[in-house]
Amino acid sequence: MRRPSLFLAASAVLGALAACSIVGETGRSRVAWFPEDYMNELGAQAYAQETGTFPEIKSGPQYEMVQRLGRRIAAASGQQYEWEFKLLDAPNVLNAFALPGGKVAIYSGILGVTQNEAGLAAVVGHEVAHATAEHGNERMTLQLIQQGLTSIADIALESLFEMPQTERENVLGALGVGAEYGVQLPFSREHESEADLIGLRYLVRAGYDPEEAPRLWERMAALNPDRPPQFMSTHPDPLARAQTLRDAIPRIVAEERGNTATGN
Ligand SMILES: [Zn+2]
Repeated sequence: MRRPSLFLAASAVLGALAACSIVGETGRSRVAWFPEDYMNELGAQAYAQETGTFPEIKSGPQYEMVQRLGRRIAAASGQQYEWEFKLLDAPNVLNAFALPGGKVAIYSGILGVTQNEAGLAAVVGHEVAHATAEHGNERMTLQLIQQGLTSIADIALESLFEMPQTERENVLGALGVGAEYGVQLPFSREHESEADLIGLRYLVRAGYDPEEAPRLWERMAALNPDRPPQFMSTHPDPLARAQTLRDAIPRIVAEERGNTATGN
């Protein structure tokens, strides 16, 4: 039987990882027990699965814009991931996501509401912040705790493609993708606020106008409420977020300028 030995191995790994770690940009303490390499592998697999269902746009001004702002946001994050920024030809999908390990997808439908490069950078910065702050890892850890540690052999030590369907859905939901299964869980309010503020820092560091972040949420709020886009179903309260972001801009700009001034 492989399961008991897997369970023992997984328990040892968990024990070694201890309880808490810290989100670098905010200092928030959290539980995120899965090894980074493992999360990045899951991210790469989920990326292949999710992006494989749409044609990819690989040339033209929109593609060039995505690559350019992707490089700038990636550099601003300071993370040494194997970054990928794919633009998917999906005019009816208003959505974007970023997975562990820096795998980012933008559905072309969202370009209508982002409107300009800084607006798209606001979306990408927010999504990338979910990945760099390891919100997927934290959600998977909380699922693990809720389900009891006996589930770890199933969740942690099988690759995504080999997982039973229900566990694959759990993992995809925790990573913030998996719309095709109807399991795209919204991140918690705490994770959303954290991604908003980290994303704002990335915008400032990357040299984009941070005012585009609240403007983006205001445009989201103005979209047809009878047919809310996918992005809005997992990101509620757009006007409240716009106001919180607008209030945070002076402080974050000052802090980032201070870091630049003393950082060299
Ligand atoms: Zn979010």
